[in-house]
Amino acid sequence: MSEVQVREAHLDEAHLILDRCDELRAISSDPEKLVRVHLSPEHTAANALVAEWMRDAGLSTWQDAAGNQCGRIEGREPGLPALLLGSHIDTVPDAGRYDGMLGVLLAISVAKRLSGADLPFALEVVAFSDEEGTRFGTALLGSRALAGTWHDDWWNLTDENGITLFEAFQDFGLDPARLPSAFRRPDQLVGYLEAHIEQGPTLDDAARSLAVVTSIAGARRFELTMIGKAGHAGGTPFDRRKDALVAASEVIITVERLSRELGVIGTVGKVEVLPGGVNVIPGEVQFSLDLRAEFDEDRDEAVRRILASAESVAARRGLHFEHSEIYRADAVVCDVDLRAAVEEGIRSTGDDDPMAFWSRAGHDGMAVVAVAPIAMLFLRCKGGVSHHPDESVRVGDVAVALDAFEATVRGLAATAS
Ligand SMILES: [Zn+2]
Repeated sequence: MSEVQVREAHLDEAHLILDRCDELRAISSDPEKLVRVHLSPEHTAANALVAEWMRDAGLSTWQDAAGNQCGRIEGREPGLPALLLGSHIDTVPDAGRYDGMLGVLLAISVAKRLSGADLPFALEVVAFSDEEGTRFGTALLGSRALAGTWHDDWWNLTDENGITLFEAFQDFGLDPARLPSAFRRPDQLVGYLEAHIEQGPTLDDAARSLAVVTSIAGARRFELTMIGKAGHAGGTPFDRRKDALVAASEVIITVERLSRELGVIGTVGKVEVLPGGVNVIPGEVQFSLDLRAEFDEDRDEAVRRILASAESVAARRGLHFEHSEIYRADAVVCDVDLRAAVEEGIRSTGDDDPMAFWSRAGHDGMAVVAVAPIAMLFLRCKGGVSHHPDESVRVGDVAVALDAFEATVRGLAATAS
């Protein structure tokens, strides 16, 4: 084939991938928008469709004990440890169609291109059942099952209808007692590679297609409460007020100021004001804090300073401040060798100086790293928009990502041989 024919063939493959993202987009519990949560009837349908595409690509398929859809092609001899490629298939409410799904489809296409290649490892593709945590509030349930870091107290988590995770497993046709069989031992895996849209504007701003991920952000989340005293908005002079919302507002402004100063990302995304009357001084405010950083030390320093500042705001205003930590995940550094392979993969597509930066968002690799080294490839998404129906990618970027992803795997195979 001429160079032009090759390019056109690659664009056809990229178009197929985007068409399949559209097909998955249609599998939603809400006809108006994309919502596909863990262990739902839509999850069953999406797994079935993905399994069909996996078989078309030459993979043997199974659904594991955690509802992850898996596929495998053997290497040069049967039973070799596997290089795992994948992403997730669940969504946030009113999601875009590429977050997660695109990584699964790229992985399937890479496996198809490499079926019949003389690889020193098996290739497996996984569509993780739950990364977002939309249904049960706890994220990475699929990848944590695979990595053997499951907590049995999660069985009692409930969704918005009061259905426990345990019951949802049974409704989906899974036996909770078999969950440990989803665990993959470290000696069964040579590594995990994931392609994902960037979910930020760095690539788009730089007019570049691909980047290699250096690390995945460490995050901590808190529930904060400022407790003052409710009172009549007309009858209470300012010097006698204990306005919890004004105090919380000071803290929220501090979160932004300190985050900028320390180079971390701090967000207050949820605020509840009690009792919540137009003519009542706010007596209590519950608000959230989400902090992410490339390095855990910076994140922890920000936490210390924000909490100290909140205490002093409360003391100055005669209020009471409380906090509780509800989530903590340490930063995960991508494996040096896998990262170098991804970089080489990007170089092979004509980008001599691949961009490299850390992921502000969490990913399945944070769980998989417990059993295998991980690395990630980022693709440009329009304006950095994600977790929104406007999520958009270019077909040319998908084509070049597919080439880079394939070259990464071939590179790893060459060094392992
Ligand atoms: Zn994702």
